Amino acid sequence: MPSESTPAEPGPTGPILIAGARVIDPASGHDRIADIAIRDGRIAGIGPDLDRTDADRVIDAAGLIASPGLIDPHVHLREPGAEHKETIATGTRAALSGGFTTVCCMPNTGPCMDSPEVLGFVRQKAHETGRCRVFPVAAATVGRRGEQMVEIELCRRAGAVAFSDDGDVVQSAGMMKSIMTAVAHAGSVFMQHCQDTTLTQGSVMHAGSVATRLGLTGWPREAEEIIIERDARLSRATGCRYHVQHLSSGGSVEIVRRERSERGPNGVPFTAEASPHHLTLTHEACDGFNTAAKMNPPLREQADVDAVIEGVVDGTITILATDHAPHAPEEKAAPFDDAPFGIIGLETALSIYAEVLVHSGRMDWPAMLALMTVNPARLCGLDAGSGGPGLGSLAVGGPADVTLIDPDAAWTVTTDQLAGKSVNTPYLGRTARSRAVASIVGGRLAMRRENPADAGEFLVGNAEAMNAGS
Ligand SMILES: [Zn+2]
Repeated sequence: MPSESTPAEPGPTGPILIAGARVIDPASGHDRIADIAIRDGRIAGIGPDLDRTDADRVIDAAGLIASPGLIDPHVHLREPGAEHKETIATGTRAALSGGFTTVCCMPNTGPCMDSPEVLGFVRQKAHETGRCRVFPVAAATVGRRGEQMVEIELCRRAGAVAFSDDGDVVQSAGMMKSIMTAVAHAGSVFMQHCQDTTLTQGSVMHAGSVATRLGLTGWPREAEEIIIERDARLSRATGCRYHVQHLSSGGSVEIVRRERSERGPNGVPFTAEASPHHLTLTHEACDGFNTAAKMNPPLREQADVDAVIEGVVDGTITILATDHAPHAPEEKAAPFDDAPFGIIGLETALSIYAEVLVHSGRMDWPAMLALMTVNPARLCGLDAGSGGPGLGSLAVGGPADVTLIDPDAAWTVTTDQLAGKSVNTPYLGRTARSRAVASIVGGRLAMRRENPADAGEFLVGNAEAMNAGS
């Protein structure tokens, strides 16, 4: 697979004209056939029949969707500390391959992202080796041990766009209240990994008939729901913006729906995200001790899958993330009890979400893309409205982050189609529909696929221009 353009080809960084795309911008509500002119890293124009004479590169986008670059607020890049699973360089390649131009990375690294120093290291690495935009999420407690709060304001100033002990819950209500008070004061958002660990000792999969049959320790829905109920009250008491990560149970959807309804549109934001696997797979996927389906929170039952989908469709769940969690083959080859939780997701998320939500007729493209662009941008303060860098929308003068999507592309998920370092996905062999065919970051054509069934070419070395070092 060629990784750089030949001398005869135009470079990836000059002016680009995207010609005749279906331009969907959920932030403004625009959905029309138009051209997009890109120059000096910004969107220079959107409209019919733009002048193409000064473009270095014209991309014929007839039949394609031009979306704001996709934003994933929940990925694990594994650097520092677990570079055998993924690095910032390889994880951001996987992001571009899947159409994501921005990712927010979780703090469960080694060392943990619980200080300005470690946040600074991650930002510097992103500056040097990242291929898309990278924003760090700081831990809320030192070492994610739940005992001592981090310096919230200092971490925010060091670039943290949110706080989370992801991988672990903040188990103590008292600690949670202190954190929420500080996070609210800093004007940031808290993201919770909802797992009451007193209910999940030794748990490795959903507590149900499959766990019983396999003789494995079950993980009840209440472990997730109790934390969301508790935190809803603490969020009200402190005024802290609160976000439920990777929601898995139907009961959780009900709690979030009720809470959002009672708060109303002007209340303190209370949001939730879904992950692709919780919309498509059940605990049956763990049958045969299949560690590729072992994840945290676990895959549950069809009624939960249906409820999570319904929550996305009715506006209860407003963000679609991936929880991209790379692990090495030898780690996932361990017995089910010992194998790590998690699957990769960046390369397959768009296709899976499109299949479940759009091709099924449940939502249209603009509604679904809002959950992958402007909504996560607002969650993490990356949008223009909150004074952020103006991501998540297509606005003249704004940053030129654009994802071109072939809505009808057919491709098969195989290991040689995956651009990250790890291949732990239960979707291998799956025939997928819809795929990103170009990812433009800060005006630079960073990934393209001439044929949507190709693995893709990565055209610029890194995203140095947009990941400013600290
Ligand atoms: Zn988590």
